[in-house]
Amino acid sequence: MASFSEDGERTQGTQKTERTENTRKSPIVTLLLAAALPLTMVAQTGARDSTTALLSRGVSQALARHRAVTIRHVHYQLALDITGLDSAVGRVSVSFHRSDSSDVILDFRGRRLTRAVANGHVIPAGAAANGHILVPARLLLAGDNLLAFDFVADIAPTGASIIRAHDPTDGSDYLYTLLVPSDANQLFPCFDQPDLKARVRLTLTAPAAWSVVGNGSAASVDSAGRSITTRFAETRPISTYLIAFAAGPWHHASTTHHGRTITAYVRRSRAAEADLDTLLALNQRALDWMEGYFGRAFPFEKFDFVLAPAFPFGGMEHPGAVFYNEDRFIFRERPTLPQRLARFSTILHEVAHQWFGDLVTMRWFDDLWLKEGFATFMAAKALADIDPTADAWKTFYLGNKPQAYAVDQTAGTRPLWQELSNLDQAKSNYGAIVYNKAPSVLKQLEYLVGDGAFRGGVRRFLERYAYANATWRDLLGAIGQASGKPLSGFGREFMLRAGMPVVEQRLDVSAGRIARLELEQRPANRACESAVNEVARCAQSDNRPTWTERTEVLLAYHDRSPVRIPVELRGRVTDVTAARGWRAPDFVFANARDYGYYLLLLDSTSLHALERGALHGVGDSFLRAMLWGALWDQVRGYRMRPDRFVELALRELPRETDEQIVPVMLTRLERAVAAYLIPGARKRIQPEVERVLWEGVGDTARSYGVRKAYVDAFIGLATTAEGIARLDRLLSADSVAGEPLRDPTRWDIVTRLLELNAPEASVRLAQQSERDTTADGRRLRFIAGAGQATAAIKRSYFTRYFSDSSLNEDWATGSLGPFNALEHETLTFPYLAPALDSLPFIQANRRIFFLETWLAAFLRGQTSDSALGVVRRYLDEHPHLPQDLRRKVLQHMDELERTVRIRTAD
Ligand SMILES: [Zn+2]
Repeated sequence: MASFSEDGERTQGTQKTERTENTRKSPIVTLLLAAALPLTMVAQTGARDSTTALLSRGVSQALARHRAVTIRHVHYQLALDITGLDSAVGRVSVSFHRSDSSDVILDFRGRRLTRAVANGHVIPAGAAANGHILVPARLLLAGDNLLAFDFVADIAPTGASIIRAHDPTDGSDYLYTLLVPSDANQLFPCFDQPDLKARVRLTLTAPAAWSVVGNGSAASVDSAGRSITTRFAETRPISTYLIAFAAGPWHHASTTHHGRTITAYVRRSRAAEADLDTLLALNQRALDWMEGYFGRAFPFEKFDFVLAPAFPFGGMEHPGAVFYNEDRFIFRERPTLPQRLARFSTILHEVAHQWFGDLVTMRWFDDLWLKEGFATFMAAKALADIDPTADAWKTFYLGNKPQAYAVDQTAGTRPLWQELSNLDQAKSNYGAIVYNKAPSVLKQLEYLVGDGAFRGGVRRFLERYAYANATWRDLLGAIGQASGKPLSGFGREFMLRAGMPVVEQRLDVSAGRIARLELEQRPANRACESAVNEVARCAQSDNRPTWTERTEVLLAYHDRSPVRIPVELRGRVTDVTAARGWRAPDFVFANARDYGYYLLLLDSTSLHALERGALHGVGDSFLRAMLWGALWDQVRGYRMRPDRFVELALRELPRETDEQIVPVMLTRLERAVAAYLIPGARKRIQPEVERVLWEGVGDTARSYGVRKAYVDAFIGLATTAEGIARLDRLLSADSVAGEPLRDPTRWDIVTRLLELNAPEASVRLAQQSERDTTADGRRLRFIAGAGQATAAIKRSYFTRYFSDSSLNEDWATGSLGPFNALEHETLTFPYLAPALDSLPFIQANRRIFFLETWLAAFLRGQTSDSALGVVRRYLDEHPHLPQDLRRKVLQHMDELERTVRIRTAD
């Protein structure tokens, strides 16, 4: 699946959802029958304690292991009637082979179980409790068994396994499932773990005017009065979290290419805006490319996709029925290059998952990184091949490395392989480590073994574990075999060890020649070095705080082509002997082409050269992107004052034309100006900031994408009276950056005017609300409202986050940024402690990415030492906070710590 926020920080203006009425509070596990388990049900008295342990809440790893060795050949025949408004009535037959004599435990936390039968015998009432159904051994046979259950499952806008999205423009309802990581058992009784793959035969009864899409293709369709029943063909073996269907009065379109037909589904009210022809073509290209790389035909019988409304992720890779986020795939205003590349990358990511994740699946969610890292890495490889003009490895760098480093250098980081004792905690495993570090590590691995051996190993891995499950050791084993290189050390350093290295360049020049070039590494997080507590037990866990990596050192000259030196980093200090004797370069960059996974600190000679103008002589935009990344790391590492960075960025920006680099530079400029500079310094530089940004907006020599990035930055940074007046006048301009001003950007302006308490802000809010009455307009109005600078508004929003059961989660997500505008630091400070106190509730009741957005918004909205004190006190006063939550707080506290320290030094 693709994470929700992966394409950048400025998401508030581009995500859109439908208002869904009567949104329910998230799920409270339905205890079917509250009665405690009758002891008579446990087959053998001696096994009672262990059975009771297996029946604990959620799906424990012990239960999953037990089932994986005792159960096989699982089939589900699942029939659902989804004609009801708020519930689905279902029946499932579960057949399987059992190889021991113990009880069998299924998982079910749907609304109600109405009938349970094992091999023709009624399973006693009381068998269902705590999210499980216990089938006593006396009702089971040696070998093949057949269970049958009748049940009711919820349909709701949030908090249910079947999500209902209501379209207010035409009154239609659309349904789709989202069962990852362990919500299949919220839908129907099953063995809900990734390594009990099953063949699934789905039957759906839906209103007659609807169309339905499932993992398999429709085998037969029967109409009866006002409903229609579709029987789908049996699937190949798939994991429960990948079972999916969507239903509604969809508009659909198909294309056939090389004998393969793909059908795309989109809701009717947005069919005219959705460029389905392009999307179909992009999916076809992705499938063709992956088949070639993996050397295996598409592993399932058909491939369709759905643009799902109000979808909480970027996409989800269900075999044969991929769901994409409708808002990300339909552009309401002209898209920039990064937006188009992000959309294609999501397609490539989900299509890669069909092999990596769906055909071969992780055994347990501790190896989540395996499928996510691979899908993103394969997406970059495919993009590089399919579209050479995309500069895919620069895109990959910009989209992954800064995000991975930002988390991996904190005391809250975790290893790629993340121990997980129960699937009900799997949500916490999602984040930058899995989505951004994992593909970065795979890039290093491919460089280490070579592309041929890498591909050979991947093909071997897919061959060996097709329609089954595997772990990271199996992958490294296959690649190790193909390359003839033992990879156990690599596994220890990159899969099992948390944290990352910082590599510092040390350059000695003598008589115009390099006398010595050394690369010194140390763990990025000092807390890891002293192993002060369990959480920070990271980099030194095996007493070898170094990593072995292959990389490339670049010596750059203004008057000749660069010298590239392959280097293996090993041990604390690596002496780059091959650099000795070369003419002193303008600068050194010890991670050319971005193969290494480490934060690079430049030597002072290189840093000064770049500051003095060597940057704009760099013609290679990929290198330029990395140099800007390294400079930003000098700021965050207290080696370059933020005002120096701001001045450098303002000087270089007018020369920078790269559509991918400019938005990233501007985002960093925004953070540096608004958070890192103390008020006096900001006041001095503010007019110059606004002048450069406004010139960028108006410069017709630049591309639309570059100018649009300046528009966004100007909206974010204008604070002078003149700047605010300009923002206000933009709303009545005919065009901006050469394009008509559309509603998403108009809303961004109105939101910012409210945050700044601009004189006409309330009037503009009213005008814009009248102008954009679409469903998205209503969402953006709510988001803008959070930016109003009064204590009463803040109180009202904060209360609604918890008390308003009709508030859509996407609305809440979008409003967190304006709520925590840096200008409102004093107003929002009182909410910092309550925001932290609510973390356990949020973890239990909100979807995967909400908690991260919440923490990031509240902590990035503060810059003071007293705010940092609140966070530290929270951690001190909650010694029993679950480790996963403590890690998330530490990850996000890092930026606040840096902000405070940078401002103090300033
Ligand atoms: Zn994914």
